[in-house]
Amino acid sequence: YYEQLQNSERLKTTGQLAAAVAHEVRNPLTVVKGFLQLYRETDTPFSNDSKKHFTLMIDELNTAEQVISHFLTIAKPDKDKKMEIVNVKSVLQSVTDLLQSYGLLRDNTIDLSVDEDCYIYANNIEYKQLMINIIKNAIEASKIGDTVLVTAKRQNHFVEMNVTDHGSGMSEAEVMALGTPFYSLKSNGTGLGLMICYHITEKYNGTIVFQSSKGEGTTVTIRFPSKKS
Ligand code: ADP
Ligand code: MG
Repeated sequence: YYEQLQNSERLKTTGQLAAAVAHEVRNPLTVVKGFLQLYRETDTPFSNDSKKHFTLMIDELNTAEQVISHFLTIAKPDKDKKMEIVNVKSVLQSVTDLLQSYGLLRDNTIDLSVDEDCYIYANNIEYKQLMINIIKNAIEASKIGDTVLVTAKRQNHFVEMNVTDHGSGMSEAEVMALGTPFYSLKSNGTGLGLMICYHITEKYNGTIVFQSSKGEGTTVTIRFPSKKS
């Protein structure tokens, strides 16, 4: 298998990131504008293809919206993010509830197995965001009907979380590219999810490691310093 440790050098400064985000938002806007101009010039605007066109426009706008909200997560000043003792079990339970319906689209289920005494010191929303991004990727990589396994356990001074899927897996080159802003192999991906994950993990002195095997699946291991409640 291939694995990669976090790479903080990949993180762009907020200024560089803002420029990249602006660029990335412009593409979907261009697509939508093009369609709207086309419709304006047509006498009988609605054809059999209209529904397809509107779906495309909505998809593009969704992508733009996601890029912006990912960016806001990073750009928000730390002083506005309250630090607290986070109950890992309750966050993972709520993330699982949130993503269960997303998984149902392709008949994927999330199997959650978390020890009681897992507490970390972090901003609750950021930790939740991190786990949503990782588990969402695992679902998206999964084959129809697959289960994604999410575990958390206490190990000495750390809380270790594992997210395992039996989906597409990644080649060595693909694993090495993870965390690079806008790196995505998905047609509607933002390629910002993991960049944010690295950013959040690093901020709380955690680590994130990918073990993957092409065609077999991926395990993501996230470790945070443990905090007694
Ligand atoms: P996005 O999900 O928008 O593409 P991410 O930053 O979340 O952006 O992920 C970047 C890329 O990393 C994905 O497009 C995918 O190619 C790869 N990836 C991430 N997680 C997994 C996984 N569990 N299995 C296979 N590939 C993955
Ligand atoms: Mg993602």
